Amino acid sequence: MVSSERRKDANQINDEKSGNETSGQKATVIEFPSALSVRELSDLLKVSPVDIIKRLIRAGIMANINQVIDFKTAAAIAADLGFEAHLSKHVAGANAHLSEANKQSAQKADQTTGLLPRPPVITIMGHVDHGKTKLLDAIRSSNVVDSEAGGITQHIGAYQVDFNGQKITFLDTPGHEAFTAMRARGAQVTDITVLVVAADDGVMPQTLEAIDHARAAGVPIVVAINKIDKPGANPDRVKQQLAEVGLVVEDWGGDTVSVPVSAKDKKGISDLLENLMVVAELQDLKADPNKPAEGTVIEAEMDRTRGALFTVLVSSGTLKVGDMIVVGENWGRVKAMFNDAGKRVKKATPSTPVEVLGLSNVPGVGDVMTVVEDEKAANAAIEKRHHEIELETAVARTVSLSNVFDQISKGKVKELSIILKTDVQGSIEPIKTSLEKLSSDEIKVRVIHSSTGNVNENDIMLAIASKAVIIGFNTEAEPGAKGAAEREGVSLRFYNIIYNMVDDVTKALKGMLTPTFVEVIDGHGEVRAVFTAGKKEKIAGVFMTEGKVTRSSSMRVLRGKQKVYEGPISSLRRFKDDVREVASGFECGIGVDSFTDFQVGDGLEFFRNEKSG
Ligand code: GDP
Repeated sequence: MVSSERRKDANQINDEKSGNETSGQKATVIEFPSALSVRELSDLLKVSPVDIIKRLIRAGIMANINQVIDFKTAAAIAADLGFEAHLSKHVAGANAHLSEANKQSAQKADQTTGLLPRPPVITIMGHVDHGKTKLLDAIRSSNVVDSEAGGITQHIGAYQVDFNGQKITFLDTPGHEAFTAMRARGAQVTDITVLVVAADDGVMPQTLEAIDHARAAGVPIVVAINKIDKPGANPDRVKQQLAEVGLVVEDWGGDTVSVPVSAKDKKGISDLLENLMVVAELQDLKADPNKPAEGTVIEAEMDRTRGALFTVLVSSGTLKVGDMIVVGENWGRVKAMFNDAGKRVKKATPSTPVEVLGLSNVPGVGDVMTVVEDEKAANAAIEKRHHEIELETAVARTVSLSNVFDQISKGKVKELSIILKTDVQGSIEPIKTSLEKLSSDEIKVRVIHSSTGNVNENDIMLAIASKAVIIGFNTEAEPGAKGAAEREGVSLRFYNIIYNMVDDVTKALKGMLTPTFVEVIDGHGEVRAVFTAGKKEKIAGVFMTEGKVTRSSSMRVLRGKQKVYEGPISSLRRFKDDVREVASGFECGIGVDSFTDFQVGDGLEFFRNEKSG
């Protein structure tokens, strides 16, 4: 629902600009200091910094938003935009001084921190069949760094392209599932998301999902409006639909960069790369290449001839052949490294993906890699990692409605993030509004993703990655999602009355919500014999047919369809010994203080009640 007013504004700006640029009207005079930052120039000209960075890039100057440019360069940009720049002696004094000071302090900071610009890392997302894979191919074939005639000999999970002498890294696993799965493991490697929307199809459910996933991660979105070669292509409709979900593109007066492309005809690719560079400049991405490397595993496999192989994206430092590395819980020495073209390389700088040979076990995707001094340091690092994992599980990685108050009180949470799933579209807005209205000064309630349908595994991943709770209205969880939620401790709650839902969230925020319990079935067994022990006590000789029984299990005794006992068990023995647990396929003796009427053939069900949500 873009207002026509907004469109008018954007047009007016364009009219004014083109008027200035082309009609030869008298240019507006403006005063600049002798040096100023891109941001200051953008403020003075009232032009978006994106526009200024684009113009600088076209003039061959790579500048980020904080970079200081000289008067001559600023004046040329201003002239381009229809301004006549004059050097302001007055203001210049103070401002130039300031800018010079800024520049010096920035340089000093860089010297002490050793930070240098690094290439941006890009992930491509969007609805199925909108052309993510084709676009990745088109970009790759446009110009891969180091590619030789004959093309790419080997393919790893990421590649780099060259744009005007600057590198851009693309992660080759398209889709928000991979993106969020990495985030759920604590690894956020992406700097910018390219959202692919097919111009002939428009915004679709997975487009919306991708937007929510990128927003939840706080990663900027650049829209690639794809398939513009198709007869039914309607880029304006796409822009309209994007505006309806709050992504207002630049030519409509918003700040979302959008680029029309055709992955099939390889049109608009360099325009897309230029815009990615601009958005990257705005982020001012830096890393120190002069220290031991750190990185994240983006793919790993056991190669039949070469052994364990993994691709790492270096985040800081420089990885070299011969370095001793710790990856997850493995360690080893880098024996060889290969770049995205399959060529042997000796080192890899920040934002560079390389395939590494040197571990004896295959690490996990999302594992952190660090370079260490020696074997002792490697062992210490692994020990520390173990400890961190333990701490993490102890501290509760996830938020639930029943612990949110606790976490608010401890200052651990300032926002309750909710993923909302409903049966029909019409329920989303009213529920979202009623939930977000519960925000207070202490805690903000935010629905980070909402859609129709059952709770699926993507929702669970997003919940882990964003520490969100999932609320379903007239929906349920898909079987896979239910299992994943239980394993990961993600809170799922289902309602069919809005009042109850809002009431529960209100209580949760005040710490008044009593936890709900779910029954988890541990196993099944069968009574094969009954023994007498002591005077009255009867012990059931049980064969475990499925799962397990533990000493803290509760038990249901079923005679045919009739339940003859439900409650705790008092003793669990194997032969004469008390045991903690007996697994399926084994026999055991079970006694219950308050129940002695076991019969051969009774079915037993073992369960426990677990706190949920
Ligand atoms: P993904 O599911 O998003 O990875 O989509 P694909 O890259 O597999 O593309 C889906 C289909 O759209 C394929 O048949 C592509 O050939 C086609 N396609 C992708 N980009 C374009 C394009 O720019 N123009 C046209 N006409 N077809 C395209």
